[in-house]
Amino acid sequence: MRYLTFSAPGETAPRLGILEGDRVATLPGTLIDLIRSGGAATGGLKASGYHRIDEIRWHAPIPRPSKNVFCVGRNYLTHIEEGARARGVEVKIPAAPVFFTKAPTAVTGPFDDIPWDRSVTQQVDWEAELGVVIGKTGRNIPKAAALDHVFGYTVINDVTARDVQNRHFQFFKGKTLDGFCPIGPVVVTPDEFGHPHGKHLTLKVNGVFKQNGNTRDMIFAVDAIIASLSHGMTLEAGDIIACGTPDGCGFGRTPPEFLQDGDIMETAIEGIGEMRNRIAAHS
Ligand code: MG
Repeated sequence: MRYLTFSAPGETAPRLGILEGDRVATLPGTLIDLIRSGGAATGGLKASGYHRIDEIRWHAPIPRPSKNVFCVGRNYLTHIEEGARARGVEVKIPAAPVFFTKAPTAVTGPFDDIPWDRSVTQQVDWEAELGVVIGKTGRNIPKAAALDHVFGYTVINDVTARDVQNRHFQFFKGKTLDGFCPIGPVVVTPDEFGHPHGKHLTLKVNGVFKQNGNTRDMIFAVDAIIASLSHGMTLEAGDIIACGTPDGCGFGRTPPEFLQDGDIMETAIEGIGEMRNRIAAHS
């Protein structure tokens, strides 16, 4: 299944849908209801109508998560290397996943503009990442059972104010500005997506490839991330995890590149789809 959250023409309230080719079947309730019901709500769900995909407005699959989006930093060697080069420090591979979070207010839709407040940052950067949506609540989840706790997979762009990140000596502040977490366009269930590794992920700016990686290169795989994050901390149905980015970010390029007003990012993962977000300066 390929679930999405959308609003129909003339409506603002987000609805749950299933993507079927170039049309959307409307379902009752929301994606978070469906996830929290353990998927039971799918049984007997009848589409109440259909829309063409070119007439809907897309929202993030879970438009306002109930807690922060969990993120893994430094999870691809090539990204660690570009960071070390840019900062003139030694390459250090983490012995355990590096976790930080993005606030729910950062979450935005897969085709929404990314608001850029120029008084806050001059270095807006991109990070294409595999997103995991937890389907089954658990604590101390063993690695061998971790993938059973996944509801589905999505695309996340961990948009980053690099100067803010560096100034505060911690990931959080520079990662969590309003609208800096586009998610979507769909959540694909594991039966359709298959094994989460070996998936091509790319990011283009104004049509030019900047990132071209593969989820097989994650240092900590999805099962290891879930096992580690849930160790002593309950992961709940509906929680979202961004699994890190490969190389090709703007700050690691020579010379460094940062997003400008009107630039368009296209963030894609094989088997899920592509988001398209424009940078919109507003001061
Ligand atoms: Mg990231």
